[in-house]
Amino acid sequence: MNQIAALHKAQTLDSRLDSMRTRLTDIEARLSQNRALQEAEAALAQASAVHHDLQARQVALEDERGALEEEGDEVEARLYSGTVHNPRELTEMQEKLAELRQRHARLEEPLLEVLTALEDSLAAVQQAEVTLESVHREVAITNAGLVVERDDLRAGIVPLEREVQQARSDLLPDTLAQYDKLRRAPGGVAVALLTEDESCRFCGVELTMQQVRQIRMGQVTACPTCGRLIVTI
Ligand SMILES: [Zn+2]
Repeated sequence: MNQIAALHKAQTLDSRLDSMRTRLTDIEARLSQNRALQEAEAALAQASAVHHDLQARQVALEDERGALEEEGDEVEARLYSGTVHNPRELTEMQEKLAELRQRHARLEEPLLEVLTALEDSLAAVQQAEVTLESVHREVAITNAGLVVERDDLRAGIVPLEREVQQARSDLLPDTLAQYDKLRRAPGGVAVALLTEDESCRFCGVELTMQQVRQIRMGQVTACPTCGRLIVTI
């Protein structure tokens, strides 16, 4: 494909995509900057954090109780195994077992407290989710115009991205590399039109007759001043 035409097409599509993305980011920011929405999101985050802390506490308590129970079972098994005959050792084991069972029992109340608190915290998370959802709906109603525009942009960007890919595939590797390098500069403009008076539309410098001839013959030519690739239509 004619590289000049392909460059022009790629830049046209990319510029359109750039402006759509910029507008989309702007709309998304405006929609999310809503005060009530931020408050509802913060409330949900806080409720979730409390709930997660309690879950961690539950796991820690259950692990601790499990370990105590296991250790107690081991001592008990040995105590009644008939292999230990020394009365002093037996007494020590009995004391140890009693201590382990007591420690196990003492953890029951805190665990029950955590379980009760977990029910409350889960309810709080669910309530915060409901609130956030309703605020989302309110924001959507209040900003109906922006929401429609956002959805249109999202829907429009997808096929445009495919078109850009198609246009890029028409560019030769060297041209594409040049194009991408220039696109990375602020503004993202890689391509400039040749004006009627044979100047670069981007920087205004006048091109030589030889450069203009090259461009008209379809040869990729960079502006000697700003470096943009010059195209004609
Ligand atoms: Zn220029």
